[in-house]
Amino acid sequence: MQVNNPVTPCTSSDKRKECNMAEQEVKFIGAETKILESDPAMVIEWPRTLVHRHTYGKLTPFFKGLQEGKLMATRCKTPKCKKTGLWLPARADCPDCHQPMEWEEIKQPVIGTIHTFTKVVYAGIGIELTTPYWQIDVEIPKCCTIFKGYLKYGEPKIGMKVKAEFRKENPTNTILNMCWIPAEK
Ligand SMILES: [Zn+2]
Repeated sequence: MQVNNPVTPCTSSDKRKECNMAEQEVKFIGAETKILESDPAMVIEWPRTLVHRHTYGKLTPFFKGLQEGKLMATRCKTPKCKKTGLWLPARADCPDCHQPMEWEEIKQPVIGTIHTFTKVVYAGIGIELTTPYWQIDVEIPKCCTIFKGYLKYGEPKIGMKVKAEFRKENPTNTILNMCWIPAEK
């Protein structure tokens, strides 16, 4: 890879008349690409990197909770709202009445019941888990929603009890900071 950029770019402090583009030559400053195939179509290897800065915004208490080994859910306290159960994944605002919800910690240990499951053999790009793995949908007491996650080990069965486990070392600071393990033998 060779990077050439001999031209001093114009900065915002430059006066327009001093930035003489007529005397500047536009140069390619990228990297050469590798040709992988030429026939019947040309295929090149074109590496791309992207750093994504993601804000958790009003859902920050959920992710801070995971760091501390807590499962945080939200509940609508609006008197007239029909849904009174806990929501997981947490919602900052009530999907029914659109009012701010209140945060509550799910009592430890968090024991749920497998509602259904699926085997993930070909994960989508960006899934940071080895395959195959079991994706499980978990019913959690007092929750009015079904919470998705993955089973760290073991074989899932519908109705099986599972316990939430939190990653304390090398935290991902994402939803992968938690998983489920069998709560029964
Ligand atoms: Zn509500």
